[in-house]
Amino acid sequence: TDPILDVHDLSVSFDTYEGRHDVLNGVNFTINEGETVALVGETGCGKSVTARSVMGTLPRPPGDITSGKIRYHGDNLLADEDAHEQVKGDQMSMIFQDPMTYLSPVYPVGSMMADVATYSGRKDVSSWEILKSFLGHRENAEEIRERSIELLDRMRIPDPEGTLDRYPVELSGGMRQRVIIAMALINEPEFLIADEPTTALDVTVQDQILDLLRERVTEQNLSMLYITHNLGVAREIADRICIMYAGEIVEVGRTEEIFDAPLHPYTRGLLDSIPKLTGFEGSGIDGQIPDYTNPPSGCRFHPRCPAVMRGTCDMEPVEHYAVGEDRTVACHLYEDGMEFEEAAAIAAD
Ligand code: SF4
Ligand code: MG
Repeated sequence: TDPILDVHDLSVSFDTYEGRHDVLNGVNFTINEGETVALVGETGCGKSVTARSVMGTLPRPPGDITSGKIRYHGDNLLADEDAHEQVKGDQMSMIFQDPMTYLSPVYPVGSMMADVATYSGRKDVSSWEILKSFLGHRENAEEIRERSIELLDRMRIPDPEGTLDRYPVELSGGMRQRVIIAMALINEPEFLIADEPTTALDVTVQDQILDLLRERVTEQNLSMLYITHNLGVAREIADRICIMYAGEIVEVGRTEEIFDAPLHPYTRGLLDSIPKLTGFEGSGIDGQIPDYTNPPSGCRFHPRCPAVMRGTCDMEPVEHYAVGEDRTVACHLYEDGMEFEEAAAIAAD
């Protein structure tokens, strides 16, 4: 069957006073129905720009989509703004890192959920005041209320009914994030985009949120794009992982394969920097993401790569090489079409 989402050759630039930044350079990935795919990479690698491009919320300008297709059920959303708007309102929902930015401090949870249920996708309704004035006049208010209580309950929020009347400041960070997820689900989307939704939370709360999210994904057969800088989090939630570096996807594989046999030198560095039992997050890779106005020639990772081959990696552009089934890696080490075992042996070296 066809994937629900097919991002093909997506390139995005940003114009700033420093010049033109090519922040996404030919990004390709797919998400199948019911599948969770994680985009993993350091801050600034282009994960959020990718998410916003898919969601249709990339600020343009200064952002500029210079090439590519974003196919949703086969339709290229980049070619049809109205279709994108429609899909965004009816079928996609996004969950963000910081609930306080997306929850209004002056309205209780129930009123915000009702507003999302009523006005999602309508860009003509922008002010809370206008929204508020409609609240008393809705015929389906009772139905929305029931749906809100049920979702809050599914997110294991104690006293869901009472929570409808509470304000965001009265809730803990973890409870606010549960509310945000419930809000994202109220219009029964089929596709979720989650941009680092657990990053601000402590590890125990983070695990609870991931469990709840996974439960929702399974029970409602949601497809999800999950953005994180943390490979450990990706392992908890994703079926497949795309590793991003400096605006490009450098490795794609099933979650267990990425952990069992990481192939790209960057992926291996990220794995080394996963917090171990101590919870300490060390860095497995020296250096920083390069300047996007003048990215390195050849492989963008070459200035930081411990396996760099001078004369090749710094000169020749890298392609995505297929290694075994459902596995691609953008690295000159693997360009000879090798079998997975052979590639894993090289990676283990
Ligand atoms: Fe390292 Fe070369 Fe592979 Fe880039 S192409 S990751 S520089 S070995
Ligand atoms: Mg980000």
